[in-house]
Amino acid sequence: MIIIAIDGPAGAGKSTIAKALAKNLGLRYLDTGAMYRAVTFAALETGILLEDEAAVAVLAKSCEMSVTEDSVIINKMDATKAIRGPVVTKAVSLVATNSDVRNELRSRQRDWAIQNSGGVIEGRDIGSVVFPDATLKVYLTASPIVRARRRVAQDGGDVDQIAAEIAERDQRDSTRADSPLTKTTDAVIVDTSDQTIEAVVSHLKKLVRQANPESN
Ligand code: C5P
Repeated sequence: MIIIAIDGPAGAGKSTIAKALAKNLGLRYLDTGAMYRAVTFAALETGILLEDEAAVAVLAKSCEMSVTEDSVIINKMDATKAIRGPVVTKAVSLVATNSDVRNELRSRQRDWAIQNSGGVIEGRDIGSVVFPDATLKVYLTASPIVRARRRVAQDGGDVDQIAAEIAERDQRDSTRADSPLTKTTDAVIVDTSDQTIEAVVSHLKKLVRQANPESN
């Protein structure tokens, strides 16, 4: 089973690169950030306080969730657009500190990989915790200003404000007790600041081939 783990901070280009790589290799793609966002959305929507860890955990364990490349549905609510909005983006890293939520989502991520015979999976703890034996672990990064500019180009907004929000989220994601964002010693670090998507994808494809000569 080929598992390609793509981790890194917000705005490093993980989704774009992971989707393109998956397509290129004929693998499925999973955005685990969308799963944390979906739980956050459902909690806000149903009036559960995010600080109420037990209640958010019950929601995570009991929810029906479908995350595909095109849509995110949770408990029959279409959350595809709302999970990318500023309210969820601001709140999600708090939900991501909840260990019961993390355990539940990790288990769903591992099930997903089995059902799909592997895949390209992006997140924060994929190579470090969810799939420590992944075929290839990539830590994607880019300079803070490039990451902020990319987000603004995608969603609009003010570069300084978005840069500050990204820095705050990265700080929370890197310092939480349970599975923080980290570079594992066996991850390949790729800085996407000055590279085209095509160049990064082609580089990663070569690394996959080296790691697993049977892949095409
Ligand atoms: O990747 P994205 O920015 O959509 O992730 C949203 C948030 O979900 C992250 O800031 C982080 O708090 C959380 N997350 C996580 N572990 C993952 C994926 C995302 O904690 N594997």
